[in-house]
Amino acid sequence: MSIESLLEKLDGVRQTGHGKFVARCPSHNDSNPSLSITVTGLGVVLLHCFAGCATCDVLDAVDLDFADLYPPRISMDGYAYKPVRAPFDARQVLTALSAEALTIIQICRIVLDHKPLTLADYTRLTLAAHRFQAGLEKING
Ligand SMILES: [Zn+2]
Repeated sequence: MSIESLLEKLDGVRQTGHGKFVARCPSHNDSNPSLSITVTGLGVVLLHCFAGCATCDVLDAVDLDFADLYPPRISMDGYAYKPVRAPFDARQVLTALSAEALTIIQICRIVLDHKPLTLADYTRLTLAAHRFQAGLEKING
């Protein structure tokens, strides 16, 4: 989804830099904007509530899930397809994997909070594992 679609679901949005925003967190009674929103160079949206809300709770509050934090795949026929692979360097691989690591940490938080993992969580972890493998293949050439 686009960053604009996310921002219009939030209140008190203020841009603080290039690809960086703050907003009132929809997951708790937030009078002072404590939700940080960052769009990485790869179009991945990173959310962080400084009051301590889990990202999954923030997403639930605006009817989104982790998949919505990633840029959409464009398809002419409406079906998912394998994107054209452009060459990318180790820095880009590490940037993407750092976002994956954050996702894994967020899902670990669900486990630590003794909340049930959903099939979507499991699917997202599987995607993260595939992305780590793909990143390794990129670095190995
Ligand atoms: Zn919060």
